[in-house]
Amino acid sequence: MRFGDHIVRFNLGGIPAVGNTSTGSIVGLTKEGSSLCDVMFTRNVTEAEVPINCAELVDYFREHEFFEESELKEGHRVRSAYLHVSNRCNLSCVGCYSKDDARNVESDPSLHQLKHAMAVLAELGVEQLVISGGEPFMRSDLPDVARAAKDCGVNRVAVLTNGLLCTPERLTSLVGIVDILSISFDGTSADAPAYIRGEQRFDALIGAIVNAKAAGVHVHILPTLHASNVDDASAYVALAEQLGTTVGFSLLSGSRENLGDLYPSDTCLAHLADVMCSLGQTVDDDVVFNGTRGGLSACAGCGAGKVSVSMAADGSVYPCHMLHYPEFRLGNAYANSADQIREELADFCLPTVDELDSCKDCDKRYLCGGGCRARAFIRYGRMGKKDPYCTFYQHLLYTAVDEFINEQY
Ligand code: SF4
Ligand code: SF4
Repeated sequence: MRFGDHIVRFNLGGIPAVGNTSTGSIVGLTKEGSSLCDVMFTRNVTEAEVPINCAELVDYFREHEFFEESELKEGHRVRSAYLHVSNRCNLSCVGCYSKDDARNVESDPSLHQLKHAMAVLAELGVEQLVISGGEPFMRSDLPDVARAAKDCGVNRVAVLTNGLLCTPERLTSLVGIVDILSISFDGTSADAPAYIRGEQRFDALIGAIVNAKAAGVHVHILPTLHASNVDDASAYVALAEQLGTTVGFSLLSGSRENLGDLYPSDTCLAHLADVMCSLGQTVDDDVVFNGTRGGLSACAGCGAGKVSVSMAADGSVYPCHMLHYPEFRLGNAYANSADQIREELADFCLPTVDELDSCKDCDKRYLCGGGCRARAFIRYGRMGKKDPYCTFYQHLLYTAVDEFINEQY
């Protein structure tokens, strides 16, 4: 028994630990367990060499795919994808990752093209699909797109929407084929400032949620946090409770020039970490499916281009929805086969946290993974630079580790 390359060693608030960067699992170690792990990193250990009081630990390692032979079981299979079904949108939000001056004159991909793309993504292993845009409800055949995803074997389908075109009829047509309707929010009341959208549409969103719930569609509310609304987070959680929805937060990202006063300072990011910890929430790119995501998990990177991909409306495949740049293009899901795209993905590598000068000595690196490479690229034009929102992760993880230790001892 020998640890695979996906196993990392680190210190959890003074406790030696090992983590599986493929599955996220973490184990705190006794002195004896720690010594055994030291050996398992360097060579094969036989059953006979395992001290009796480490037998349970070894069982855990075996069960949670820590050993070399289990490394390939999950491998780096793509599990989730964004599918951009249109560039068109009825809003023009600050910091929108798919903003483009020409977006409303471009034609949408055909249903035939999208079906081909979804079959390719499903063949790559995609189980969770986020249908995004533009605004997906701009397409009248949205139910056909979602149904085609299910027909390809996609397990969970989410639609990411600004909520303004969600009429009762259209929502009814999604019942049974869309698992999550994720509605973005920009304000916690009808008279709240609309920092991102420019115009407050709170009542329309509440109407959409009421209609969706009446139709039987699960609703997730998705506020975007930024420099001016961090303290609204608890009101969003209360709103979700009141409406009977789940909630997840995303963090406004982009260049300082584009975000202006909404760009969070380090002080704001540290405060945001405190707020998220007190609410038992976090912000990340999995918010569409995961919502609340507590706990610590091991990672060496975010998985962009490995466990997740994003397809643009023109069929181009990219490592993630924030990296739709020509230099990161990994084939085209309308034109290429799954094998061709798999080859492109196999050649694509984001730097791991150990390869980042700014992160390689950070004591939280295997819990953070180096933050967001897309944010570093957008800010500095280079993947290998520090995530400009590092302060958020530093503070969040400091508190999370502290809480974890207090819970255990
Ligand atoms: S907390 Fe900051 S320095 Fe540490 S790994 Fe994350 S991004 Fe890098
Ligand atoms: S690069 Fe950033 S946005 Fe993209 S998957 Fe990684 S953490 Fe998420």
